[in-house]
Amino acid sequence: MTKHSLFIIYLLAAFFIAGCSRYPQQIKRLQWCTMGTIAAVQSTDLASAQKLRTTAIDSFGKVEDELSAWNPESDLSTINNRAGSNTPTPVSAAFTNILKISTDFASLSDGAFNPLIGPVLNAWGFNGTTAPAAPPADADLSKALMLANTAEIRVTTSGNTPLVSLGLPGMQLDFGAVAKGYAVDIVWQKATKQGLSNLLIDLGGNLRAMGEAQPGRGGWLTGIKNPFNKNRLIAKVLLLDGEAISTSGNYERFVEIKGERCAHIIDGRTAKPVKGMAGVTVIAPDAATADALSTTLFITGVEKGEMLLEKHFTNSLALWIPDRQPAEIIATDRMKQRLQKISVPYR
Ligand code: ADP
Ligand code: MG
Repeated sequence: MTKHSLFIIYLLAAFFIAGCSRYPQQIKRLQWCTMGTIAAVQSTDLASAQKLRTTAIDSFGKVEDELSAWNPESDLSTINNRAGSNTPTPVSAAFTNILKISTDFASLSDGAFNPLIGPVLNAWGFNGTTAPAAPPADADLSKALMLANTAEIRVTTSGNTPLVSLGLPGMQLDFGAVAKGYAVDIVWQKATKQGLSNLLIDLGGNLRAMGEAQPGRGGWLTGIKNPFNKNRLIAKVLLLDGEAISTSGNYERFVEIKGERCAHIIDGRTAKPVKGMAGVTVIAPDAATADALSTTLFITGVEKGEMLLEKHFTNSLALWIPDRQPAEIIATDRMKQRLQKISVPYR
């Protein structure tokens, strides 16, 4: 299970039940399971929500068919199975887009983010493998890291069709850090073309806003979950029209090895699960960026993360919640200005 429960969208309906009639329309939430997580759309207008749901079911299904590491029939699995065999696989434009986003993040994060992290994830017991009794040996991790060489990803074309292959046997692409965000953007773009507005799209905690929740709200108020108490929010933030939000955390998906929690986010530079970080939330102009960036900033931590934001993502806002007590939020200045109802100290 992923980030879906990191965020609780506070249906302002609860507010009305409490007796306030300033926003009399109730927000309807339609949700379903897809891509191994929960998807949802929200709107005060049921017909719009239903229309968006139809679009989203179709689009999320297509993304899963093409990009999921869990689906043995996906284009991604085919490419992985053919790694090292010199047999290119035809892919969609969406595939090459997401590959480009991923390799861009790999280079600007100096390899902290790496879409070829698959063999390393396997070594630690993720992606359907069994968690080892002891941490993998350094030699095994080095071998897995040798397969995470983005220079070995080959993209060619046949006519107008892009073709992808991986140069070394055992290489494995994994778009787990960005595919959900990308899928949300596809749906957001389709919905915009359909003339829909005042909707919120959510795929496993990757959210993107259209318009506002209700007239006068100015956006969509979303909750950021407390990593140390999943039933509580640590803060709220107003998502403006078109913006996306994503959280990466260590508390939804992890394995325990010798009693120690190992997060499903691995530092691509060391091949080891990230330690010391409980959650990172990013607001960005699109959901693919928010998704990839929240994973990247989870790995880099605060200092390097702030440098990355200043250099490459000046339109994005971020906060970090270190994995220690007492809980605190470390937020960029622009994120600080957005936060509401913050329940722990912040700086
Ligand atoms: P979630 O999957 O919970 O939504 P993230 O977006 O942060 O959370 O993505 C975590 C996933 O990213 C992991 O399950 C794995 O598939 C992938 N991943 C883990 N480490 C890395 C890394 N260093 N670079 C790129 N992807 C990674
Ligand atoms: Mg991510």
